[in-house]
Parts: sequence; C-alpha cells; structure tokens
Amino acid sequence: MDTTHNKGKEPMEKIFVFDTTLRDGEQVPGACLNPREKLEIALQLARLQVDCIEAGFPISSPGDLSAVKAIAEKVKGPTIVALARAVREDIETAWEAIRKAEKPRIHVFLGTSDIHIQKKFGTDREKALERGIDALKFAKSLCPEVEYSTEDASRTDPEYLARVVEQVIAAGATVVNIPDTVGYAVPQQFGKLVAGLREKVSNIDQVVLSVHCHNDLGLATANTLAAIENGARQVECTVNGLGERAGNASLEEIAIAIRTRKDYFKFHTSVNSQEIMRTSHLVSRLMGMPVQANKAIVGANAFAHSSGIHQDGILKDRTTYEIIRPEDLGITEHAMILTARSGRHALKHKIGEKGYELNEEEFEAVYERFLSVADKKKRIYDEDLDIIVQDVIFAHLADTRLYSLESYKVSTGNGKTPEARVRLSREDVILEASSPGDGPIEAIFKAVDKIVGSFHKLEDFQVKAVTETKEALGIATVRVSREGFRALGRGSSTDILRASAKAYVEAINRIHHFLQHHSQGCGCNNKCAHQESPATHSAA
Ligand SMILES: [Zn+2]
Repeated sequence: MDTTHNKGKEPMEKIFVFDTTLRDGEQVPGACLNPREKLEIALQLARLQVDCIEAGFPISSPGDLSAVKAIAEKVKGPTIVALARAVREDIETAWEAIRKAEKPRIHVFLGTSDIHIQKKFGTDREKALERGIDALKFAKSLCPEVEYSTEDASRTDPEYLARVVEQVIAAGATVVNIPDTVGYAVPQQFGKLVAGLREKVSNIDQVVLSVHCHNDLGLATANTLAAIENGARQVECTVNGLGERAGNASLEEIAIAIRTRKDYFKFHTSVNSQEIMRTSHLVSRLMGMPVQANKAIVGANAFAHSSGIHQDGILKDRTTYEIIRPEDLGITEHAMILTARSGRHALKHKIGEKGYELNEEEFEAVYERFLSVADKKKRIYDEDLDIIVQDVIFAHLADTRLYSLESYKVSTGNGKTPEARVRLSREDVILEASSPGDGPIEAIFKAVDKIVGSFHKLEDFQVKAVTETKEALGIATVRVSREGFRALGRGSSTDILRASAKAYVEAINRIHHFLQHHSQGCGCNNKCAHQESPATHSAA
C-alpha cells in the first residue's frame, strides 16, 4: 500500500487520481478536440501527475483511435486507459490503441441496473453478468491491467452489484469502478453502498475500488469524498468538472479538498497542485468551454475578496479568510517575462521551461508571432506566451488549414451600417469580398462566408482578455455549424476584430476538413462533427 507520512504522525494512504477529461469530458457537445490537442492535454495531465489518463474510447471514431495511440506512445508516467464496451471488437480496438503504453489499462463497462439490463440490452441479470465476465476475461488475455465498470451502479440492486463485483474480481479485474452514471446518488447513501461492498465482497481486497460520479445534483465531489471515506481508493474525475450534462466530479476540487483537509481525510494524492491553474486554462481554451467565475478552486473569482471586512482581514493575516493559498495552485501575479528585444534564445529558453516541445518550424512560427505581438503589446506575460504557442501549434500549423486571414477592413460609425472587406488566401491565391452586417463582427463573418461560398450558422461566440491590462491579448472562440457538422475555432490578437476573424476562419477550415475527408473515411477526429455519434453516449 502506498503511504506517506504526515509530519511523523499516522501514515496517510494514497488516493489514485484517474482523469477522464479526454474521454468523459470530451463527450461534451462541441468539445471537438483533434488528436494534436488531445496529446497536448495529456502531456499537461502528466505534468499534473495524475495516476491514470483515460485517453479516449477508441472504437468511437478513427480519430479517437489515433489520438489514444499517440498518447500511449508519447506520454510517460501515468497509466494510459482506453474505454471499451463489453464487446470483443471494442476491446480489441482499445488494446490496439494502448498496447505501446508504458502502463496500459483496458477499461470495460457494462450496465448493472435493471433499467440498463432490460431496456438497453433486452436481457436478464444472469446473462448480462455472463457477458461481462466473458468480456473481462478477453480483455485480461490481452492486457494485465483491466478495470471493470458497473455502469449505473447507484441505481443497481446492491445484492446483485456485490455479486457482479465478486465475480469480476475472481475473473481477474484489477480495478472495479462504481459509477454514479446519472448523478443520482447522495453522499451518505453512496458512502454506504461502497462500505457495503467492502463488507459483502469476500475478495474485495484484491482490487482497487474506484468511483465515478456525475454532477447532476451538484453532489459529484461530495459523493466522491464520501466514497473514499468508506474505502474507495481511486477517484475518476475531470479538469474543470467537464463532462456530459452537468459534468463529472472535478479533479481540482477533490485534490484540493483532500489536501486542505488532510486533518480530516488523512489521505494524499500525487497531484502537483502547482500545475492546476495551467491545466484548467489549457483545457478550457482547447475545448472552448469557459470556467464559471465562481467555480471552486479554478474560477476567476475564487480568490477575489471584495467585501471591505474581508480585505482588511486578509491584509492583516491571510489565513483569516483564506483556506487555500493561490500560489499553491500555480496562480502568480502576471509576471512580465519578455519584450520584443528579448531575442530568440530567451524565447526558446522560456518555452522549454514551460514544457512545450516544438520542432524548428514550429519555433520559427512562434518567434514570428511573438515579435508581432510584442511589437504592439510591449510586455509579454506568462499567460500571453501560452496563448501564442498554442495558437501557432494548434491553428496555424494545423493540417486542417485551407484558408488564412490576410487582412480585413471595417468601416463603421454612428448611424452607419458597418461594412467589412476581408482578404483570405487559399493556396497562394488571394480571395476578397465585402459585406454589410448588423455589427462589425457580423460583417466580417458574412464577408468570409461570401469568399468560402457557403453559409455557416454561428452557434456560439465569446471574446476574453488574457490579462487585465488595456493592451491585453484577446482570445475569440467561435462555434459554427454547417450541414450538421459542428466545429470550434479560436483566434488571438491584440485586436479583437482580428482575433474574431481568425477564429471564424479556423472553424470554417475545420468544417471544410471534416466535409472533405469524412466521406473518404480518413483518420481525422470526425466524431464531434456528427450530430449523433454511435457509441459515445455510454458514460460509464
Ligand atoms: Zn461518466
């Protein structure tokens, strides 16, 4: 058993952190990560020092299969997990995806509640159990580490659940997961369910008992903590609590609750809290999912004290109103790090320090972009550099890039209809169009549509400043759809009109890529481009 010592007092047991941001979190409609973005998030999760990364559901799309493969080959440290239904083909594909990982794990799931057994599978408890055991044995024949999830466990008859758990352990499961798939559990009851399994299941000590909670009643973190108090030792969770519907249990809430209240829980995790904020920002930005300002731990206001009494207390002694130190989460005052005169060497050093691995072409593109931003913005902060690097590696060098924004011009003013003129390039050919619009941004988007020759429905549009300075870098995120395909685009610039135009063009490039390659059955991540994806609405 992995233990650590708490200042010479009693040993603290370890809670294993299983991150499913790239699988359950990615099921959010419109999250649309491509394989390169999934890899970048996985590398960051490794820096965060989670124990397991559930990298995807390989059978769901060729894009997901190749993304999981890339993660298995390149990400060292955590166990790499692939999800599979209790179906031979799923398990084979999962194994194909992760077989090269340092520590691979196949994760098989099958419903155990009567609702799932009867309504979803049209079978009975005994046949479902038999199918689960067969699937588990097959997975075990391929991979030594196999996790078994009893989907919808919180609505399962506890006696039957105990029987399933006992038999899958006997058949070779190394981790057994008890999911609250629909977010129905309440803490006391869920804790009892876990305690009951520990009592009733004779071979329970042979596995790591895990829980997977959803947040439909806002209880995912509370249910997870109740479960570890009653014997669960693995927690399944996502960064920023992302996930289908109301989301999954939030990684940062669980990790920081255990850490802050170690006097009570007497557990520890291996999570490097200093990486929490950076992970949160990366996931939010790449998935186009903003974090609510008052979100625990990672919200923009989580450490903002606005009442005078609190401010006074904080100035006298921070512990009067502050239970978590922001610097422990990697939150620092905006550090001015570089200027236009910093030069290639300093930039390369800083990028390396931040953990990015760029090839020569990527570095040159970053350097060029850095110079043009530094020229307008003078001071480049830590956060700006993240955006510049991500912008270059995810958009400008993407294989989905067909159109590029060359320039735009907008004329607007009091009582005048805004008019935009946009120039795009496509394979060295310059294309130009003008359009009026209700506002300057709409005019730009319409002019782009004119050039591309098709109409795109704008589903979501956000603009955000990276730092709170006047000359801040603005990030625009747009979500557009066309012919049932949906895509996300991001752009950054010190000029928000330009950032918006870049984001729109990127989204259109992605849609174009899907439309062109999907019909040829290419390996691109087309899952998110389908309105209805075949197997993803499972959520163990
Ligand atoms: Zn789930």
